[in-house]
Amino acid sequence: MDTAVPGQRDPALFSLSEVTWAWMHNRTDWGYSNSGLIVSRGQGLLVDTQFTLDATRRLLAAVEEICPLDAVRTVVSTHQNGDHTWGHRLVPQAEIVTSVASAESGCHEMGPEQLTLLAHSAAADKASMYVAEHFGHFDFTDVMVVAPTRTFEGREEVRVGDMVVELIDLGAGHSAGDVAVHVPEERVVFAGDALFSGAHMVVWSGSLSGCIRACQVLLDTGAEVFVPGHGALLDRAGVVTIQRQLSDVAEASGAYAQRGVPLADAARLIKASHAGRWAHPERLFTQTAAGYAEAGVPGVPSSTWAMVEGMASLAS
Ligand SMILES: [Zn+2]
Repeated sequence: MDTAVPGQRDPALFSLSEVTWAWMHNRTDWGYSNSGLIVSRGQGLLVDTQFTLDATRRLLAAVEEICPLDAVRTVVSTHQNGDHTWGHRLVPQAEIVTSVASAESGCHEMGPEQLTLLAHSAAADKASMYVAEHFGHFDFTDVMVVAPTRTFEGREEVRVGDMVVELIDLGAGHSAGDVAVHVPEERVVFAGDALFSGAHMVVWSGSLSGCIRACQVLLDTGAEVFVPGHGALLDRAGVVTIQRQLSDVAEASGAYAQRGVPLADAARLIKASHAGRWAHPERLFTQTAAGYAEAGVPGVPSSTWAMVEGMASLAS
């Protein structure tokens, strides 16, 4: 299944069923995230906003064609990365729901001012140049980080009109706390960055096993349509492919860790063997580092900046 329209660069709202829509970018570059919409009997639930206020305004204009904005009473935040949350201030009437782990991880996220400084810095080190290349074109003017207003743990059912919507706390995987939104009657899951489609996953949490486990939780919902945080729609086979790829990297990184191969070398070897055709193979650094951390290798870096340095180095 692929919603990508050749040549089309603008995001658009795709109908998945009578009550579910996906706002999708036809690209896998950093920062272009997908959002979700559920509308039933005049009530709306939005899954994630966008990176910039401009991008969020475009999303909300499309939402308004389906449901008045003041009827969107809930925004579910799948995790706290800016590309999914920095538009929250444009939905002030909604409660913002996420998991306890996700909400707690928000304190450690880079803010819009810091990212703007980094993206426009003239520093010539690889990491700074990587950030400038991938984030320099975004305008974070007037972005204010809005914290979640309600949290949950485990699973929670919310009602949107006639629809029962299940919020699933996936725990640590892509981020320190990921959440998925499942609409059982429609067999649709909004996965946030627990799934990347057409691109390699970034692992910020240090838990590759958490990413693999999250894929299984998503498959166990029995859903047929999966909206990833980035890239085109996925079917069940697509999720299985991602899970297998993550498992292969976990196995390879575990083996290199056991042989005492330095992390940077292991990441290069894994990129050479596992890059395939997906975008951003440099993100395999973060997967390898997570594999090393889980194998108990001492001193594995885990900070956001260390991950950026590792990716920048692997990209060059
Ligand atoms: Zn994202």
